[in-house]
Amino acid sequence: MSERFTGSFTQQEPIPEAGIEAALKVLRHGRLHRYNTAPDEIAETALLEEEFAAFTGAKYCLAVASGGYAIGCALRAIGVGPGDRVLTNAFTLAPVPGAIAAVGSAPAFVETTENLTIDIDDLAAKLPGAKALVLSHMRGHICDMDRLMALCDAAGVPVIEDCAHTMGAAWRQTPSGRHGIAGCYSTQTYKHMNSGEGGLLVSDDPDLMARATILSGSYMLYTRHRAAPGPEAFEKVKYVTPNVSGRMDNLRAAILRPQLADLPAQCARWNALYQVLEAGLADTPGLRLIPRPAEEHYVASSFQFLLPGWSGDRVRALIARAAARGVELKWFGHAEPTGFTSRHDSWRYAEAQSLPNTDRILAGLIDMRLPLTFSTDDAALIARIIRAEVLAVHQGEAGPVEAVPAAD
Ligand SMILES: *Cc1c(COP(=O)(O)O)cnc(C)c1O
Repeated sequence: MSERFTGSFTQQEPIPEAGIEAALKVLRHGRLHRYNTAPDEIAETALLEEEFAAFTGAKYCLAVASGGYAIGCALRAIGVGPGDRVLTNAFTLAPVPGAIAAVGSAPAFVETTENLTIDIDDLAAKLPGAKALVLSHMRGHICDMDRLMALCDAAGVPVIEDCAHTMGAAWRQTPSGRHGIAGCYSTQTYKHMNSGEGGLLVSDDPDLMARATILSGSYMLYTRHRAAPGPEAFEKVKYVTPNVSGRMDNLRAAILRPQLADLPAQCARWNALYQVLEAGLADTPGLRLIPRPAEEHYVASSFQFLLPGWSGDRVRALIARAAARGVELKWFGHAEPTGFTSRHDSWRYAEAQSLPNTDRILAGLIDMRLPLTFSTDDAALIARIIRAEVLAVHQGEAGPVEAVPAAD
């Protein structure tokens, strides 16, 4: 009998007990709004910002309602608006082009390499006239940041990093989110810290962060922040910056602070799962692993591989066979957006763009979550199942794949 996996690809770990305790404390005193504090009390949200700034080495940090909000807030804070052209990865998640569109700008997509990172040659060609780059470290893959920053700096194009999948990661010794003018992180349930929804924005730029703080809905209470620039930075911007309400509350911050303390250990656990899968799938005919450069200190909370040149029917056959054995694979090649996976051609509020390399790569791109509820034995079992089913379909042992209905 063939082996079957019975775990859930969407089940994260529970909130740590220290987070539950801290949350109960907030619930019991009832002061959930970040600016609702007792005399001498420091809000959980302000403490989280201070701790996350220290974690990333940033001067300033602002906690907000979501990762997408953090990106939109950073764009607004550097003066991006209607009519501007903003570059971003063609391979990213929908909230990224969504944040660009929400400030009235036009997303301009940059091609994708076989390593799933932004294509820096295509970027170089598209930089002239761009107002900003939102660089998405999609699925945790980090491009050559030295080359990218040199090009963007020379062109005078500010870089906002989307670190939804690189919280805790680095390029050389510099944390992800600390290369560009601002770094944006998400604390939505499937990211590296879980508060259901939430976001963090870091930067060393006092003007940007003063604007971002007012934008987030600080009213004139910004002096209560502990990781914000001084009052002088706010004097110039406080009358001219709209309140685009998007604060974080003390309940979420209370849940997040113990998770931040655990983050390095959690990152090591993700990488242990990743490395077992990588070893289990090495040298599988028909399957290409994604190489990881030595400069990249990744945090692999998900796993990707390519099926180069496979037809849609074959990919669908593989997904169906893996699913029958309990392994849930996501495919970025679907013509229609499904679940969390969508492609540039389904973001039709943006002008249609020709991205042949991205289309070719996404047609063979398989994606899988690696929740920390999995053990390394689970990862080894998942690798054995994928390997066997890839071999069966690739070598034609699965029979004629055209017989599989193209239901999804
Ligand atoms: C999740 C995610 C975001 C935004 O996060 P939200 O908190 O859900 O708004 C941005 N970029 C990528 C690549 C993501 O996966």
